[in-house]
Amino acid sequence: MIPKSCNLASNGLHLWSYTYTISQHIDFKTIGEVLSPSATTHATTILKIAVPAPFRKALDYLPDAKPNLIDYQPGMRVLAPLGNRKVVGIITAVVHQSDLNAEKLRPIIKVMDEQPALDPSTLQLCRWAVNYYHQPEGDVYLQALPVLLRKAEHTTQEWIDTWIASQKGLLIDPAQLGRAERQIAALNMLREHPRGLAQQTLSGLNIKPPQLRALAEKGLAELHERPRHYKSWSDQPLLSETPFALNQEQQESLGAINQAEGFNSILIEGVTGSGKTEVYLQAIEHRLKQGKQALVLVPEINLTPQTVNRFKHRFLVPVICLHSNLTDRERLQAWRQAKANAAAIIIGTRSALFTPLKCPGIIIVDEEHDGSYKQQDGFRYSARDLAVVRAKIEKIPIVLGSATPSLESIFNAEQQRYQLCQISTRAAGAEPPSIQLLDMKKAELKEGLTQETLDAITDTLLEENQVLVFLNRRGFAPVLMCHDCGWQAQCRRCDARMTYHRQAQRLHCHHCDYQAPVPRHCSHCGSSDIRSIGQGTEKLEGFLSEYFKKTTVIRIDRDTTQRKSALENHLKVVHSGKPCLLIGTQMLAKGHHFPNVTLVVIADIDAGLFASDFRATEHTAQLIEQVAGRAGRAEKHGTVIIQTHHPEHPMLQTLARQGYAAFSQVVLAERKLLQFPPFSHLALIRAEATHADQATDFLQKLAHIASESQIPDSPTLSVDIWGPVPTLMQRKAGRHRFQLVLRAQGRMALHTMLEFLMDRAEELPEAKRVKWHLDVDPTYLE
Ligand code: ADP
Ligand code: ZN
Ligand code: ZN
Repeated sequence: MIPKSCNLASNGLHLWSYTYTISQHIDFKTIGEVLSPSATTHATTILKIAVPAPFRKALDYLPDAKPNLIDYQPGMRVLAPLGNRKVVGIITAVVHQSDLNAEKLRPIIKVMDEQPALDPSTLQLCRWAVNYYHQPEGDVYLQALPVLLRKAEHTTQEWIDTWIASQKGLLIDPAQLGRAERQIAALNMLREHPRGLAQQTLSGLNIKPPQLRALAEKGLAELHERPRHYKSWSDQPLLSETPFALNQEQQESLGAINQAEGFNSILIEGVTGSGKTEVYLQAIEHRLKQGKQALVLVPEINLTPQTVNRFKHRFLVPVICLHSNLTDRERLQAWRQAKANAAAIIIGTRSALFTPLKCPGIIIVDEEHDGSYKQQDGFRYSARDLAVVRAKIEKIPIVLGSATPSLESIFNAEQQRYQLCQISTRAAGAEPPSIQLLDMKKAELKEGLTQETLDAITDTLLEENQVLVFLNRRGFAPVLMCHDCGWQAQCRRCDARMTYHRQAQRLHCHHCDYQAPVPRHCSHCGSSDIRSIGQGTEKLEGFLSEYFKKTTVIRIDRDTTQRKSALENHLKVVHSGKPCLLIGTQMLAKGHHFPNVTLVVIADIDAGLFASDFRATEHTAQLIEQVAGRAGRAEKHGTVIIQTHHPEHPMLQTLARQGYAAFSQVVLAERKLLQFPPFSHLALIRAEATHADQATDFLQKLAHIASESQIPDSPTLSVDIWGPVPTLMQRKAGRHRFQLVLRAQGRMALHTMLEFLMDRAEELPEAKRVKWHLDVDPTYLE
């Protein structure tokens, strides 16, 4: 049978436009439906429990000792025995049948909360994800909870210590306490509040624990744990500033979003600085007025404090920001607040997608094309795609916004699965930047920059403006080489070169984090003439500081922003508006608003033009547009110089002359020709092992099983299988990596095959010798 939660196919949306049958012999209890007490007492009540262990499916358990007292519901956390451990698991279903003999099943130890930790819509989302991504159920369900709730010591409810006057305490004449004046004051306070006062509140009133304990010892006061009640935000005033009057295109976008009275996905394609964020703010305001909450996903919060601040400035209602500096405890607190409707707006990165909302009103995914929405380890999911599924489940609108939408989203808009809104002009009246393709061929280069580029930088600084130089390679130099014999410093554990970091005087592998001291002599020929080749941001910083002696040079990359508030301090200098030179990696490409940057230099784009992955051009173009978008965002006109050896490259030409929309059409046509996504669906099975043949043996076996199971002469159901092939970097961190690529025209074919393969893979003896995973809708095939 098909679990109800999988059957989302009715409205023909792309992502879930497949239904497939999984042979589950379980009778799924409808989510949220409460079992009658007689059913729970039924002798064969079986709890399906997702546990933190690498099993594909939930395990069967019996209820604990007193089942008739508990209304077991899907989404509840339980403590259950697993081997000789006790683990926190989640009830995914309550059924009456097990494939295993009931005598073999173990009872759970206890139910951990009164109410399910996962609400019905999150449960439904998890079920959808399990079926779509074919991940172990435990990984999916537990990932939906804050880290602390995956542990037994914490509860979904927050409990607070509360003091109450006892019966005796209410009746006694306080004078009997004699000269214990503080105790008398404490008792009087408790008597004035017969429903009790929180320990914290009492401390605020200068009534301290020793007095309270003294009262308790005399039987006059009692300490209780009470669930904390959160105050809803909904009766508070909303705005703390007046919103901008929107221009025509902004208004049309807002209209489209506000009109939605249920599920609708709206794609806003708006050039950088076109006022998308302003549209989000006003769309949120509209939902807040209806008493509904908003969930906003952003790529990397710590990099864009400005965006978050705009939300906080606009609204008076509580805004929660889930950034990576939060402690686990703070995250749990945020989760509770969102669930209890004590927070109106929740802003967070990928994992914030699973934040429960009591009154969901709208979901916004900013920079929807961004790679960080895809989780690349453990439970591999796309938060953007799951956000659309969630909006569908919650029956609310979702807004996907970007200056450079992913080709998948553009295609979805063309297929009218998404409603497309375009904003083509910059909001504050700023002109789009002009793009200049600068031919590097034969030019004399100074640390990778042409004289023409250096002159343009000089001119910009003389005009008292700021310059951003983009180089997506941190460290001093990507290669350390012996000038006498050509030896290069290689990572011991990867098929990769070590990057030279001069300040730290280390060699560093950016792929596996392996570090080594810088050799004084070539390990091959003994020569001491060892040179660094190529440029990283560190070298460029050194050169530009020397060349522009009087100018402040700021480098922003992972190495210079490790310390807390380092990025903030760097950005402060930029925002002071004084002329300066910024050098940075893609950390600088995202979401920043630098009004005084009028020149952007992209130092080296060629690597991105010829990368082998089928998405490389798309990602390069997005990066160019995003970096270019930092130029001239205010009144001042911006210029972008792209240095390249291939100015005639069609991608660069289309992008520079006609813009991203035209570019995306060209690439879509290419994808169609080659039958790559969005015109087909991909999955990757990747295996790694210390010996290459362990990985290939396993994948070979899977490929064989897959081809045996193909239905002959059925193009709609067939799946192309390639491999095993080595990954682009075959050896990484000491392990050999190979992959199998599966491609199908229809999702149904792919998912039927994957479901079958995953069941078989688990049983293969070869599987025990490798580390392997499945990646559905992989970002890279490399
Ligand atoms: P995006 O999110 O598309 O990059 P923003 O929303 O950040 O664009 O807008 C860019 C700038 O234009 C911001 O400084 C914003 O305050 C301003 N802005 C946005 N909408 C308007 C408007 N309707 N009128 C005037 N200024 C606006
Ligand atoms: Zn040498
Ligand atoms: Zn390495």
